Amino acid sequence: MNPPVLMSIDEALEKILTSAPDKPQYSSFESNIYKSLTDSHLRITARDVTAPLNIPPFPASAMDGYAVASSDNIFTEEAPYLLPLQGKSLAGNPFTKELLPNQCIRTTTGACLPDRADSIVIQENVVIKNDNIQILTKPEKLDHVREIGQDVKHKQLLFPEGTQLGPLQLGWLAACGIPEINVYRKIRMAVFSTGDELKEPGSTLKAGEIFEANRLVLEKLGNTLPVEITDLGILPDDEKQISDALKTAAKDADIILTSGGVSVGDADYVKKVITEIGQLSFWKIAIKPGKPVAYGKIGNALFFGLPGNPVSAIVTYLLLVKPTLAQMCGLKDYAPPLKVSAILETPLKHSSGRTEYQRATYRQVSEQQKGGTPVLCVSVKEDQSSNRFASFRACNCLIEIPEHIGSPQIGDEVTILPLHGLLD
Ligand code: AMP
Ligand code: MG
Repeated sequence: MNPPVLMSIDEALEKILTSAPDKPQYSSFESNIYKSLTDSHLRITARDVTAPLNIPPFPASAMDGYAVASSDNIFTEEAPYLLPLQGKSLAGNPFTKELLPNQCIRTTTGACLPDRADSIVIQENVVIKNDNIQILTKPEKLDHVREIGQDVKHKQLLFPEGTQLGPLQLGWLAACGIPEINVYRKIRMAVFSTGDELKEPGSTLKAGEIFEANRLVLEKLGNTLPVEITDLGILPDDEKQISDALKTAAKDADIILTSGGVSVGDADYVKKVITEIGQLSFWKIAIKPGKPVAYGKIGNALFFGLPGNPVSAIVTYLLLVKPTLAQMCGLKDYAPPLKVSAILETPLKHSSGRTEYQRATYRQVSEQQKGGTPVLCVSVKEDQSSNRFASFRACNCLIEIPEHIGSPQIGDEVTILPLHGLLD
């Protein structure tokens, strides 16, 4: 009998995203909340945000110079022009009277233009002559003037609902004078590892034991999304304890991640427990590393059972869990990982049947070396066994080798996923 055909990674992701909520759900927790700008960093807007005012709110000088009225009759003549200096308007200290005909006012960048003034002559184009200013060039209407609303118009949409607030967005909100903003609550993610052999770093290892490494990575990889993490530690390979821990976690969490115990070994209980206390949506997909990944639900909580080998756990996290978290947080413009072409520089072994993600290093080769447009070249430097954390050494991308092809050859174009995009 042929083995069953495994689901592709694209199908698996589609299935997950169809079943996952597209924003934080209201439960005993509010689904959205007002936060100060500082506390909104990396949060996601729960409503459209519109500008409460024009920016600038007044006509402003864009340069240090002299404000004039370009329609004054003195400017019907040829340059130069000699104008009395009537006063000054500095940023934050406006000149409150009207500009008199055929006179000028000293201004600095960001200063309010007085009534009637409509043009700034930059200071490089004048000669100061006692109380008079000699203007060397003919001023035109709106020269170096920022009109009301030139940057932002009152009531314009700043961000739609579902926008993540990074430093630039927060700065823009501050510039608009918005002190707090309605954002979605954080997604609650419970994380634990399973395995009798796993010990915390710092403890003494007994025969057959190793240090636990997955929780830390999985928790920190989620740092760029508004996710509140509950670390539930290491569980032994014990069906009852796993079942109890998952049931308890599901009461509070929006999503549960486990690593280990989803394969076909004698001590792999995680998948079995899910079928008993929740619904298993799928188990095993056609990827390498990460084939035995399991996905389902326990109550209202989504469940991901990631494989225990660190590389498998990390790759399945990046490709499946990360986009799911982004969606659940309410993010609307989540960009799927960037995929670009690169020339393979080293041999690479791949057997058809599963989409493979090899840890590799890409570099941009300069025009001189290649005699044309810059190209990316990629090489595989490490043994790719999925237990080897060391396969991430010097790694800055994953090479994606499609399911149905054999080993690509040196010089072939392959698809790479740069890691700096994936890890952000
Ligand atoms: P499992 O998926 O439980 O069969 O584990 C596969 C391999 O990954 C075994 O060699 C485990 O010892 C190892 N492993 C499982 N979980 C972890 C972990 N959290 N940290 C480091 N290695 C792990
Ligand atoms: Mg195990």
